[in-house]
Parts: sequence; C-alpha cells; structure tokens
Amino acid sequence: PDDQPEPDPSKKTLVILGTGWGAVSLLKKLDTENYNVIVVSPRNYFLFTPLLPSCTTGTIEHRSIMEPIRNFLRHKKAAVKFYEAEATKIDYVKKIVHINDDSEIKGDISSTEVPFDMLVVGVGAENATFGIPGVREHGLFLKEVGDAQRIRKRIMDCCETATFKDQPPDEIKRLLHMVVVGGGPTGVEFAGELQDFFNSDLKKWIPDITDNFHVTLVEALPNVLPMFSKQLIDYTEKTFKEETISIRTKTMVKKVTDKYIEAESTGPDGKKVLEKIPFGLLVWATGNALRPVVKDLMMQIPAQKDSRRGLAVNEYLVVRGTENVWAVGDCAVANYAPTAQVAAQEGAFLAHMFNSMAKTTEIEQQLAKLSEAQEKATAKDSRDQIFSEIKDLQKRLRRVKSIGPFEYSHQGSLAYIGSEKAVADISWMSGNFATGGTVTYFFWRSAYLSMCFSTRNRILVLMDWVKSKMFGRDVSRE
Ligand code: FAD
Ligand code: NAD
Repeated sequence: PDDQPEPDPSKKTLVILGTGWGAVSLLKKLDTENYNVIVVSPRNYFLFTPLLPSCTTGTIEHRSIMEPIRNFLRHKKAAVKFYEAEATKIDYVKKIVHINDDSEIKGDISSTEVPFDMLVVGVGAENATFGIPGVREHGLFLKEVGDAQRIRKRIMDCCETATFKDQPPDEIKRLLHMVVVGGGPTGVEFAGELQDFFNSDLKKWIPDITDNFHVTLVEALPNVLPMFSKQLIDYTEKTFKEETISIRTKTMVKKVTDKYIEAESTGPDGKKVLEKIPFGLLVWATGNALRPVVKDLMMQIPAQKDSRRGLAVNEYLVVRGTENVWAVGDCAVANYAPTAQVAAQEGAFLAHMFNSMAKTTEIEQQLAKLSEAQEKATAKDSRDQIFSEIKDLQKRLRRVKSIGPFEYSHQGSLAYIGSEKAVADISWMSGNFATGGTVTYFFWRSAYLSMCFSTRNRILVLMDWVKSKMFGRDVSRE
C-alpha cells in the first residue's frame, strides 16, 4: 500500500471528510480494496477527545492521545489517499469537494477540487458562542489540542502574573479567578481537572496563590450535567462544593470583555440581576454549532431547509435529499446526542454498509455472467450445475442486501468530576444504574484506557498518569 497507485477507474471514488471519531471508525472497518478511498482533513491525526480535559493541566501530555492518521492508514489493505486540507465547499450537484491547504507551509497549489462518487461528511462541529460579543476574542475553547495547550499556558500565566511584584489585591483576585462557562460534561470535567491541579500541585509550587485561586462554573440552566440522572447531578454539585468550586446555575452570560463577563442571574424570587464577574482565565464550553461547510451544503439541498442543528439523515445515515452523501457524528442529526459513542457507532455502521454494497455489486456481476453462461450451455449437466450456482449466489445476495437500519446502542455516560471521583450512568443487561465516587473513577480510568486508539496511546496515557502522580504536573509555561 505504500506505493500509492493511480485510482482504479473500475471502482467508485469514496471521499471521507474528517479524521475524528466518525470518520476514523468508518476507516477502521472499511475494506479499502472496494473503493478509491480519499480522506480530507485539516488534522493529520485522530484525537481521543474524552481525555482532552486532562491535557489542560498536564495530567496527560497531548501527544499521548493523538494517533497519526498516516500511521493508521498505512496498515489498510489497499492504499488510501490523505490530503491535509479543509473542505471549503461541497458542490453536491457537480459531485466535487473544494479543498484548501490552510497550514503554514503552502506549495504552488494550495486549493483544488476532489471529485467523488460517494461522500461521507464527518467534519464534526464548531464551538457555539450564540453570537455573544467578546467570546471569541477573550475566551478559550476546549475542543482541539491547540485549545488545551492554550489553556495550560494561560493558567500558568495567570498564576505568575498574580505573583508579580506589587500586584494590587483586587487584580490578584481577578487573575486567579478561573471561570468556566457551560455546565455540560466539558465544563464540569475541566473545572474538576483544574481544581485537582490546584490542590495537588499549584498550591505547593506557588503557595502565594493559595488564598485567592478560585474556580467558578457558570451555567444558564437550573443544574449542571443535564444529561445525567438527578442523583448524579446532586452528587457532582456536592463534590464541587466540598472542593470549593463555585457553581452559579441559572446564570446566563451575555457579554465578555477582556477582564470580566457580564451575566444575568435569576434569584430565588425570580428577579433578574445583571452582574460583572472578573476573570483571569475564561473557558467557554457551551456546546456545538454548525461548521460553515455544512451550513453551505444544507443550503444547496431543499430537503435540508428545515434542519437547524445539522445534516438531517435517514435511518441509513444518507443525507436527506441526496443519494450518494452520508453524514456521521456531530455534523449529522439522527436524534442522538453529539457524542463520540454515537459517532463511532455510525462510522462502523457505514463501513459495514459500504462493504456490503461492494459485495452486492460483485455478486450481481457474477450472476449476470452465470445467466449468460446458462443460456449458452448445451449439456443438461452443466446447465443444472450453473442453475445451482445461481441459486447459491442469489441466496448470498439476499443475505448481503438485508442490512438493517442504523440502531444506536447506548453504553452509558461517564464523566470525571475531579478529586479522583467520577459519575456514571450505565446501561447494563437492559437496565440502567447510576454510580458516583472513587470506585467509579477507577472504572472511568480503565474504560477510557481500554478505549484509547492504539496500544501506543494506552501505554503513553498510563505513563503520564504515573508520572504526574510521582512527580506532580509540570508547571513550566512553554
Ligand atoms: P470530530 O471528532 O470533532 O472530528 C471532526 C473531524 O473533521 C476532525 O478531524 C476535524 O479536523 C475535521 N474537519 C473539521 N473541519 C473540516 C473541514 N472543513 N473539512 C474536512 N475536515 C474537517 N463524547 C463521548 O462520547 N464521551 C466523552 O467522554 C467525550 N468527551 C469529550 C471531551 C471533550 C473535551 C470534547 C470537546 C468532546 C467530548 N466528547 C465526548 C464528544 C466527542 O468528542 C464528539 O461527539 C466527537 O468528537 C464527534 O465525532 P465527529 O467525528 O463527528 O467529530
Ligand atoms: P453541552 O451542550 O453538553 O453543554 C453546554 C452547556 O452550556 C448547557 O448546559 C447550556 O445550558 C450552557 N450554556 C449555553 N449558553 C450559556 C450561556 N450563555 N451562559 C451560561 N451557560 C450557557 O456542551 P459540552 O459540554 O461542550 O458537550 C458537547 C457534547 O459533547 C455533548 O453531547 C456531550 O455529551 C459531549 N461530551 C461528553 C463528555 C462525556 O461523556 N464525558 C464530555 C464532554 C463532552
């Protein structure tokens, strides 16, 4: 597979956009011999997002949860082409994807077109800001590796600046106020990791900050982690209280400036109060929004006109209104939460379906040949022989074609909440149970370790855990 051959004209070209959970899960199970497979993504690696919050404090080094896509693709049976580029436009009618190399180094050509027969859109989502002014300029997100690195750097910068000679007390308080907006799992996990960092390392290394370092989680709804059961929400809120993380529920951020957020909170009497909350670090985790390339594609397809949250797909993940475009993961709307679990199952389903489609074509071609041979055959024996072969093939064809629609199987929800505790809503033997605490934390660790992409990732993550436990997290600001 290393000597990239030219595309085989007898095979269909399957273009896959993205190297995230959906796309990589599809590639893992896809028999690449059946198609000319082309992958386009601005990221030449897969990122294991569940452990990304741990990278913001150096509990885990970011490279431990990255797997180079080239390393993975070179083990496929037939060569797969990879272009490190962003899909800027999908021309659905002309069956062309416009791609652009957005990286620092550009050659003579940095934008071009990739034609497709079949297209899988797995480009994920952007960070939602709801148009709130100042978020992009002054807040940090937590979605990509670069985001985690920026947060890690900013935490240390705030601590060092707070201890600068003659810093006024109010400014020290502001610089050491770490505000997280969004009480979904991303916000909760990050807040937990940050408090851990302070409790086990920062406090020891920089004792001057002990009295002023504070984490606040701001959430517009009446409680955090809305997708978890009531018991686990209560458990999380109690744990945060013990850890002195403030939770400000029913508080909606309306504006962000370089030094404070403006938030509207609803008091117990129902009255709304607008207040300014100063911060040193602001992490914005309020969920997903559509990527421009997805929005643009939706506008080209009349059947997508009423869809708001992403590409509406049918039960076979075909983008409604199209025949040869599929969508997986956070950019698709199939009535499931935008999670890695859903994206991975959708990707695996498509691989299974594409493998079957290729087999169907192969069997149909064989059947056509046999029917021809049957007509030409003169001796009865050989006609009977061909007839029985046709029967067998028809049976195989029915089996291959009988692929059912996509069905999601929910394995449960897991989240780390800090201080070596985790919460889990688990579906098991057709029942559900909710659990939280230290045992769940060890379950969380082993579950995520086993889910890591490769053995290499698994070993690196394990070593990082041991390293940060033995020597503490590294507080140097790169
Ligand atoms: P992604 O994994 O985001 O991949 C999208 C891919 O498309 C990327 O490779 C990207 O580079 C590429 N791309 C972007 N734009 C373009 C373009 N224009 N053209 C081509 N390619 C493009 N889910 C869970 O189930 N469990 C968890 O514990 C969990 N933890 C999480 C923690 C964090 C911090 C975050 C941010 C998310 C977490 N999630 C978790 C959610 C999960 O990561 C997403 O649901 C999942 O990544 C969606 O998969 P995807 O393939 O749709 O998109
Ligand atoms: P989310 O959509 O789950 O939560 C965002 C939260 O932000 C919501 O509770 C919303 O009420 C709040 N919010 C929105 N605007 C606000 C404002 N102006 N002021 C204050 N609060 C505001 O987002 P997420 O946590 O980024 O998660 C995205 C997806 O990824 C979800 O599907 C989630 O399940 C998944 N995920 C899962 C895990 C896990 O399973 N451990 C971890 C991270 C993410």
